[in-house]
Amino acid sequence: MIIGIDLGTTNSLCAYYGDEGARVIPNRLGKPLTPSVVSIDGQGLVLVGETAREYGLMHPDRTASVFKRFMGTDKKYMLGGRAYHAEELSAFVLRALKEDAQAYLNEEITEAVISVPAYFDDKRRKATKRAGELAGLKVERIISEPTAAAIAYGLYEKKSSTRFLVFDLGGGTFDVSILELFENILEVRAVAGDNYLGGEDFTELLVNEFLEKNNIPEDALSLRELGRLHKEAEAAKRAFSDSDEVSIAFSYNNENKELHISLKDYETLCEPLLEKIRRPVQRSLSDAHIRLSEIDEVVLVGGATRLSTVHNFIVKLFRKFPDTSINPDEAVALGTAVQAAMKERNEAVKEVILTDVCSFTLGTEVSVERADGSYEPGHFMPIIDRNTVIQTSSTQRVRTLYDNQERIRVNILQGESRFADNNLLLGSMTVNVPKNAAGEEAVDITYIYDINSLLEVEVKVVSTGDVKKQVIKGKSNDMSEAEVSRRMEELSYLKIHPRDREENRLLLLKGERMYEECTGNTRMKLDFRLRRFEEALSSHEHEQIEDARRRLKEQLEEIEKSGNK
Ligand code: AMP
Repeated sequence: MIIGIDLGTTNSLCAYYGDEGARVIPNRLGKPLTPSVVSIDGQGLVLVGETAREYGLMHPDRTASVFKRFMGTDKKYMLGGRAYHAEELSAFVLRALKEDAQAYLNEEITEAVISVPAYFDDKRRKATKRAGELAGLKVERIISEPTAAAIAYGLYEKKSSTRFLVFDLGGGTFDVSILELFENILEVRAVAGDNYLGGEDFTELLVNEFLEKNNIPEDALSLRELGRLHKEAEAAKRAFSDSDEVSIAFSYNNENKELHISLKDYETLCEPLLEKIRRPVQRSLSDAHIRLSEIDEVVLVGGATRLSTVHNFIVKLFRKFPDTSINPDEAVALGTAVQAAMKERNEAVKEVILTDVCSFTLGTEVSVERADGSYEPGHFMPIIDRNTVIQTSSTQRVRTLYDNQERIRVNILQGESRFADNNLLLGSMTVNVPKNAAGEEAVDITYIYDINSLLEVEVKVVSTGDVKKQVIKGKSNDMSEAEVSRRMEELSYLKIHPRDREENRLLLLKGERMYEECTGNTRMKLDFRLRRFEEALSSHEHEQIEDARRRLKEQLEEIEKSGNK
């Protein structure tokens, strides 16, 4: 079976297509979401998900999160003395999801469809694919998250002929996409977004407000303290769903510090972030040449759309209530499962043809003429505009600038800035041209962008007909197959903490943290329960383990409820 995976910034999840349609696969803890958090513990075991998040509260230096933001970049994370790229950390998450899916479905899983933000460029898509390979998964297809969400809403719900706006605010990224479903063609009309905006920013607002109101400089807190404060702020943010005022309590230098904040004040703090949401929405509409009133459905994706401030803003912005019939956390994963079923030619799903757009403008560097006739270099000339449906090709002619010029250099750029330097250089080519008077010689530059987001550049010298071609395969950090298998072998020495013992490990970690946080009698009672549980675990007696686990759980819940920390 091919499974579908939503590899998220904050949480990841997987789904499969079974007899009853697309279904989310619960992880070993019985939960649909696995936090995209990775730790390497003292014994060199890899922890993933909730256990890693819990471990991270005590060992932030051995824990990484939100690494999806740096997928496909050279950024390295040092965990337990070794460096990892974002794609390698993602591979650990994928490995855990794969193992949990195998246990749940009771079969070996070797293939997957993985989703990525529409805004991910080629380099990031390739890094995601490699993460899958490093996890031992053949990646059948990389699919854009909004496309997956639209598939979940459009096909799963058997709607036809609909214009969707998919509003996806996850933990760290924001994507807006406009898609049109007509019969069996799902066409992406436009995508826009912000790779540096997400639910975490809404949490940070509360962290900063807390520090400011209590006169605590941010750098006064240790990583561990910051982690704990962040956890409190996250809970407060979520509490706004049910109340008009929330509070954060946090002990700092043995003093209890607090923040009480009303929803109204929080909304004021959120204004600059909400303003940042507006821009990509407008840009996607204008790129798609669609008016707001022509959108049939606004579909919400990503956990941060649950935040009441964001939800209310969406209702006001679109002047309609969004469709929330599918859980915003699950829509993308369900869509990837439907796409996986299509790949398997499952007869229960109708085949759709997906068309995508290129998310960035592709162009070249040129000199432009000043009023006095001289030339100013460094300008960007677009060749393929962003949001053009792929596959596509387009040609622009560039002339020689001075007499007897012998060569023309073509810089291949991606981005939206007027200036070449501000855009990303993907590659360059140089062609020879016959000596001639300025402007008499020219080259035709053709960009061909295929369905897999591979760009082919063709430069033709107009006077001689000479042609030079180059396929742009992304940046140099592309690994060869041999490198992937070498790295895979290296990573396979790192054992994932046995997933079937996940719940016990999590409970122990939680207990240890709470032990540190509480005092007095509570602390002693907790110590007793922890010891009993450890003894039970080493006895390997099933009943004894169950009993000690239940008692420890009850004790932890009691402490959490009473707030004795
Ligand atoms: P995702 O990457 O889609 O899993 O989104 C995770 C983000 O959604 C995080 O920033 C969470 O804080 C946020 N989030 C999840 N549930 C809620 C909720 N009930 N209220 C507010 N924010 C939430």
